[in-house]
Amino acid sequence: MTSLAEGVDTSGALPTTMRAVVCHGPENYTLEQVPVPRPGQNELLIRVEAVGVCASDVKCYHGAAKFWGDENRPSWAETGIIPGHEFVGIVVAGSEEELSRRRLSLGERIVCEQIVPCEECRYCRRGQYWMCAPHEMFGFRGFNGAMAEYLLVPARARVHAAPSSLPAHHAAFAEPLSCALHAVERADIKFEDVVVVAGCGPIGLGMIAGARAKNAATVVALDMADEKLALAKKCGADVTINISNQDAIQIVKDLTEGYGADVYLEATGHPSAVPQGLNILRKLGTYVEYSVFRSEATVDWSIIGDDKELNVLGAHLGPHCWPAALKLLESGALPMDEICSHQFFLEGFLDAINLVGNPTGGSVKVSILP
Ligand SMILES: [Zn+2]
Ligand SMILES: [Zn+2]
Repeated sequence: MTSLAEGVDTSGALPTTMRAVVCHGPENYTLEQVPVPRPGQNELLIRVEAVGVCASDVKCYHGAAKFWGDENRPSWAETGIIPGHEFVGIVVAGSEEELSRRRLSLGERIVCEQIVPCEECRYCRRGQYWMCAPHEMFGFRGFNGAMAEYLLVPARARVHAAPSSLPAHHAAFAEPLSCALHAVERADIKFEDVVVVAGCGPIGLGMIAGARAKNAATVVALDMADEKLALAKKCGADVTINISNQDAIQIVKDLTEGYGADVYLEATGHPSAVPQGLNILRKLGTYVEYSVFRSEATVDWSIIGDDKELNVLGAHLGPHCWPAALKLLESGALPMDEICSHQFFLEGFLDAINLVGNPTGGSVKVSILP
């Protein structure tokens, strides 16, 4: 029997060490043998089944400062931390009290929201936990992530039971999908709306599925890759436009009696997608920004006020959208076999990160199965 301080030994055979990817600084991640964490009274231990690799993991790997070309920007991942914030796992240890507090049983599959709120700052006290001031996140700051065989779930983590019917790497897609759904909710889509989604990566595809679930009149997908646009169709896009050889603004005008789109959801991360959105929208339209940009976007701000009186909104993380994301995944509405394009073992973590960072690599969602 493994001895767990105040905890219940569940597996009867928890190993003492595990394989984990450890961040030692930019471009210095190594696969190591580290101790398996032992859950305290208010913690759980999960065996990681799958962890998605996100564009933000690539940025952190290269060091945010270098990526941005701005030495003043701090690197996001703490030294010594295990990366990985899009994960699913099986509860393998935890005290009876903690399991009953969370209404979970051993052997149950869970996902955790990426942010671990402090519950003390002004935002947390007002229920705006996703904007928590200290902003501790699994795999970046404060708590180890899931590029490891096991992960400790702290007391403050926001946990959701996940359907066991899904392949693990599909269930881990709940993280990017919740983010996409939050952006969709920010847009307050109406039945009559023509919704344009820019960028058909994991977030954009999730936005398309979310806009379709909100039953918008027409969902339009923009991308430069025909394969991604084909995937966008399967996620619910009615119209797809390849902006490398088609005039998106003209096509959307033709679709809307010359007025322009009602809603524009931006998920490309490319500065040129910002003026594109302002120009594609009708007057009084809604722009939602989700991307993290590599360089600044320059736009004519008079379009926002004087010309169109637009609603320009930001979106960050996926608050209050996790149950909906899990339900959408369970519904089978998303072509998850195609979205989850590549899977790696933990040993291939670097290949996984490099594939996500390669714009011509042909990946959509890359997953690691520890
Ligand atoms: Zn992510
Ligand atoms: Zn807080």
